[in-house]
Amino acid sequence: MSAAELDMSWQEAGACQNTPIHWWFPEAFEGVPPEARALCRACPVFAQCHAHALRHEQHGVWAATSPRQRRRLRKAAGLRSFVERDPDVVADVAQMFERGFTPPQIGEALGMNRRTVYRTLAAAGHDLTPVDNWRRQARTGSNAT
Ligand code: SF4
Repeated sequence: MSAAELDMSWQEAGACQNTPIHWWFPEAFEGVPPEARALCRACPVFAQCHAHALRHEQHGVWAATSPRQRRRLRKAAGLRSFVERDPDVVADVAQMFERGFTPPQIGEALGMNRRTVYRTLAAAGHDLTPVDNWRRQARTGSNAT
C-alpha cells in the first residue's frame, strides 16, 4: 500500500488538530515536547496513531513517541521500516545497486544508513553476492572480485 492509499481519516479526531506545528516537529531536539505528550495521552485516537506511526512515520512526534523511540520499538517488534517497505524506495535502491553504486553511495544519495540499504536489497530478494564481495573488498582493500 502506498502512502497515498493510507486511510488517515482517524487523524481528524486527533487532539493535535489546530495546535502549533513546532510541538510535533521540534527543531532543537529529538524528544517529545511536554505539550505534545500531554495531548497524546488524552487523545481519542492514540491507538490508531501509534500503530500508524510505528509503520509509516520517520519524522516528527506521533502518539507521544519521537522518531528515535519509534526506531527502537520497530526494531524490538521486528518490523521493517517504512523505507524497506516503500516500493519506490526499494526500486531506487535496486536500480542504483544494479548500476554499480556501492551501499554507502546509495545510502548517501537516498538518505539511508548502509544497513538499511542491505536490508532493503535482501527484502526485495536481490542476490547479495555483489554486496558480500563489496564488503570483503572494503575490509581487505582489495579490488579483486
Ligand atoms: S496521538 Fe498525538 S499525534 Fe496522534 S493524533 Fe493524537 S494528539 Fe495527534
